Parts: sequence; C-alpha cells; structure tokens
Amino acid sequence: MTTLPSLLEAVRGRVGTTAEELAPYGRDQSFLRGSPLAVVAPADSDDVVALVRWARQGRVPLVPRGAGTSLDGESVPADGAVVVDLSGWNQLIEVVPEELWARVGPGIVNRDLQRALHSRGVFFPPNPGSWTTATIGGHVATNASGPRSFKYGPTRSWIRELEAVLGTGDRARFGHRVAKRSVGPELLHLLVGSEGTLGILTEVTVRLAPLPARREGLVVPLPAPVSLSAVARRLRLRSGAGLSAVELIDRSSAAVLAERRQVDWPADAALLLLEVEARNARDAEEQRAGIVADLRAVGVDRPPTVYSDADELWTLRGASGVALDERMGPRVREDIAVPLGRIDELLERLGAIAASAGVGLFLYGHLGEGSFHPNFVVEPASPTGERIRAAVLTAALELGGTVSSEHGIGRLKADFLARELGPVPTDLLGSVKRRCDPDGILNPGKLYPSASGPAGRFSPSLSGPAAE
Ligand SMILES: Cc1cc2nc3c(=O)[nH]c(=O)nc-3n(C[C@H](O)[C@H](O)[C@H](O)COP(=O)(O)OP(=O)(O)OC[C@H]3O[C@@H](n4cnc5c(N)ncnc54)[C@H](O)[C@@H]3O)c2cc1C
Repeated sequence: MTTLPSLLEAVRGRVGTTAEELAPYGRDQSFLRGSPLAVVAPADSDDVVALVRWARQGRVPLVPRGAGTSLDGESVPADGAVVVDLSGWNQLIEVVPEELWARVGPGIVNRDLQRALHSRGVFFPPNPGSWTTATIGGHVATNASGPRSFKYGPTRSWIRELEAVLGTGDRARFGHRVAKRSVGPELLHLLVGSEGTLGILTEVTVRLAPLPARREGLVVPLPAPVSLSAVARRLRLRSGAGLSAVELIDRSSAAVLAERRQVDWPADAALLLLEVEARNARDAEEQRAGIVADLRAVGVDRPPTVYSDADELWTLRGASGVALDERMGPRVREDIAVPLGRIDELLERLGAIAASAGVGLFLYGHLGEGSFHPNFVVEPASPTGERIRAAVLTAALELGGTVSSEHGIGRLKADFLARELGPVPTDLLGSVKRRCDPDGILNPGKLYPSASGPAGRFSPSLSGPAAE
C-alpha cells in the first residue's frame, strides 16, 4: 500500500483505489478472479512511460486492459497489480480509405470502428463474437479472429503499425504504414498475440478492406451423420472467391440459442452458417447455387435459409456463448483447432471426453478453419473440469492442432504452450520476454509456461500437465 502515494505522484491520469472502483477490474469473462491494488487510466503515452518506470522501481505488476472480454484470464490481474485501463483511448485518429488504413487508439471498440468505416466504403475484417464490446487493442494483444477470418485471416494480417511502451519503459513504433516493405523480420508480429506481456499498446494502425456491395448469410441444416472434414475441405476451396465465413453450431447449442433469442431455425439438426460477399444480387445467386452444388457433393442436401443482411446472422452467432451462459452458467469453454482432415476425429474425441465424464457437450465454432469451442457443462474450477480441459487440449495437440485457435493462452493454458511450441521456440520466446520486460512486471502469470516471484518474473519451464 505504501506504493500508492508514489503512483499518484508518477501519473497524471485518473487513479482508482476504492473497492467499488476496483471491482470490475478483478475479472474477465473466465471464472478467474484477481485483486488489483489500483486502476489507472493514463492521460497519454508520456503517462504510460512514467507508469512503467514507476512500476519497474517498485516491481509492481501492470495489467493492460481493454474491455475485459477475454475468456482465459488474459486480463485478470495478478493480486496487487495495477490495471492499466485503455478503454478511454477510443479515438479514430485518422482514416485514409484510398490507402486502406486507419490509425486508432487501442481502446476503440470494433463496432464503433466499423460504423465509422462503412460510410467511407471500407471495413476492418476481424469480427470476433465480442465485436460489439471488445477493443482493437484487445484484438491485437490476443490476435483475435471471427467468422470472416475464413477468407481474411486473423487480426495479425490486418495490422500495419503499432506504437507501444515496452516493459523497459522505452516507447517505439513497430511495423510501417506502407502496404509493402521487406526490411528484415517484422518485429510488429512479436506484439500481436503477446497478451500485454511485452508492451502496452498506445496506438494501432489497422489495414482495411474495400466493403463488398452485398453480404448475405445462409443457414443450412446438416444431416446426421455427415463428414464435417469433407464439408470443411470442400468449402475451403471457395475462400478465394466470395465465401467469407463457414461456421458450425451443433444441434444442442442451436436449440438453446433458438429458445433464448426466439430464432426461427430448424430444431432437428446441427447448422452451417455461411456468409457470401457479392457484387450484386445476381452474383450472390450464382455463388449460392455453386455452394449448394458443392454441399450436395458431400451429402448435405437441405436448402439454405437466406439472410439478406449477414451481420444479423453474426450478431446471433455471437450470442451463442451468452445464451449458454444464461442457460447453464459457468462451464469449461475451450478454443482449439485441428487440420481440416482431422475434424471428424476431434469431434469423436470430444464426444468421448464428455461421455466418460458424464457431462453435457455443446459445441460451435469456425468449421472452415477447423476451429471449435466445445462447452462442457461442469464447474470449470473442479477436478473434473481440470481433467476435461487437459484432455481436450491434449486431444488437439495429438491431432496436430493448437491449444488456442483465437482466444489466447492467458492463465489457463500457459503450461500447454511449451508442449505446442517445442523447446527451441519456447526458449526464444523467453529471450524476447526478458529483453522487452526485464523485471517481469507486464501481465505476470500469463502466456508463458511458468512464472514465479511477487511480480511473476518470467522463468521458462518445459513441463506441462501429464497427458491423459
Ligand atoms: C461473448 C464473447 C465472444 C467472443 N468471441 C470471440 C471470437 O469469436 N474470436 C476471438 O478471437 N475472441 C473472442 N472472444 C474473446 C475476446 O473477446 C477477444 O479476445 C477480444 O479481442 C478481447 O478484447 P478486449 O478489449 O476485451 O481485451 P481484454 O480482455 O481487456 O484484454 C485481453 C488481453 O489483451 C491485453 N490488452 C488489452 N489492451 C491492451 C493494450 N492496449 N496493450 C497491450 N495489451 C492489451 C490484456 O492485457 C489481455 O492480455 C469472445 C469473448 C466473449 C465474451
């Protein structure tokens, strides 16, 4: 507590320390909780530099935060940490549609950015389910994706330049505004997905895409049984053209969503949710006919329901997790991906994990990228919850996949990261962390396999939980 007066002296921005002010900052959308010492809303990037220098002196952890919608504890503070609230940094600083870029504050919310861009004929492609509340800084720090990453790729592909204050207190710009440059390894990519552990982002230059004239959504009921590997592979070949999203929602999740949001969807089947970008109505119709023919070739023959505004579909799809929250509360929610050819095996293994634990399974995800969010109805902090999480992540790795498709590593998966990366990349990652944050003050306990000491000083470990 003796550090508080010196904090008030060091920064010019707003500082909150009362229980009421701190309550919203001790949590994200996972089941984890932390007890921060204070929350600071820095006034500008000079203030961020002063804050980092102050934190280095006292070895006080700092946790950058956007909207706090992360799902694996990424933005949950270590006890005694100072939360750096960047949600007020929500300015649209500059938009140059003709050059397809925009410069923004890291706290701008995705939906607000899109609204400002649409009237200029451009858009920012990443559209995670949390797009109505989550910030662009949070998207960069977790390399977020959404349905449209089927065609456009994740946030990483849509960032041109970043300004950040590193854990050393140095302020620097990474990347470049030009569309193309060949200047050694691109250091900007070290910050994308770094979950606030290397630097605090103070400005983001995003890359933009021309807004398609028309976007329609299709909902297609799936027969059972059907090979989802075959469906995903067949549709993948259309990603270069107008097909921009290929999502799956299983029958149980669709039923919950239909009940909670009064959606008129077929209740007897799992559903494919697709998005088509088109030049005009005729182009959309031709593409739809091609998709229907492709689906028929892999055994899917029920006709699609057409949504003339695809965003209506994505708002509903984004509500799947919330609808499950309302219906069943805390549960194990995972985020894994496997190669398209291994999807059927993955789904079998997920079913077997749920059956052997005797718990319900609700699943949705980004089928076209082999990326899934299985939800197991069990208390996530219980021993069964822990066992299920370990079994799911192990299954993903054994099938040649990843333990985090888009949500990040956070606190919950840190010990699995080294298993996925292997010893040499894990060691290199540790070197980068030590160079950028020598005192281990930035978001300790996240992302890296092991942390120790009061400020969670980085200490790499190659051990993970034993496979089941
Ligand atoms: C209903 C729901 C649906 C979701 N759907 C998706 C989805 O489809 N795809 C997906 O990828 N994710 C999804 N998420 C996860 C989450 O919304 C995203 O990861 C989002 O990008 C986080 O943004 P945020 O502003 O809430 O970040 P926060 O939760 O505040 O922070 C996330 C991480 O970023 C760091 N961070 C935030 N701002 C900065 C900054 N300025 N500088 C440095 N580090 C920073 C934090 O320290 C933390 O490690 C979903 C979450 C919910 C609740």
